[in-house]
Amino acid sequence: MVGEVEVELEEVAFGGEKEVEVERMEECPSCSGSGAAPGGLRICGSCGGSGWREFTRNLGTLFTSVRTSCRACGGVGKVVVKPCGECRGSGRVVRKKRVRVRIPPGVEEGSVLRVRGEGERGERGPPGDLYLTVKIKKHPLFERVGSDLLYELPLTLPQAALGCTVEVPTLRGKTTLRIPPGTQCGHIFRIRREGMPRPEGGRGDLQVRVVIRVPTHLTEEQKRYLREYERIFGS
Ligand SMILES: [Zn+2]
Ligand SMILES: [Zn+2]
Repeated sequence: MVGEVEVELEEVAFGGEKEVEVERMEECPSCSGSGAAPGGLRICGSCGGSGWREFTRNLGTLFTSVRTSCRACGGVGKVVVKPCGECRGSGRVVRKKRVRVRIPPGVEEGSVLRVRGEGERGERGPPGDLYLTVKIKKHPLFERVGSDLLYELPLTLPQAALGCTVEVPTLRGKTTLRIPPGTQCGHIFRIRREGMPRPEGGRGDLQVRVVIRVPTHLTEEQKRYLREYERIFGS
């Protein structure tokens, strides 16, 4: 049986346990799987309740007895004359169930997690396994790049030109980053071990990429300053 599990980037980073709701076919509790309403089961008229039929074939002087499963009742020996209202005679119903699944740290998008014994019960035997495909939710701040995380840090032109100290969010919380004077747009700072778990152990980095925020909706005074800036710095 297959399903899907949606996880947060934080859960991928640190691992965890998640509860998912799955729909599966289970034995109808109303009729215990017989498919019949109370008193709606009759002894099969074709086989008399034995579940099999015997034919005698005459092959000249030989008589051969052939035993086959009763077609009328499918070998059960009973037939449903009044079907169960809850399962409409199928003997099985769809049930929603909450299942706990362990999220291994560093799991990839599209990976399949197996939950033992939480699949559907077949005609016979123990229930099978449940297979859940991992879907990682988009994070508002971070983009996953392999075992690294990418964060876009917006700076004003003065911040980038003069240098500053800024707060940068991480999956754990936040950290401070010193921006040296003359930092260019697109420059990437690496904050070690604040990324995702690596398959070989350890953690990737948080890549902080600088983007220069261009001001919009300018007042007349701001426009004047920008023209002055242009005159002093040239184009
Ligand atoms: Zn039923
Ligand atoms: Zn029968």
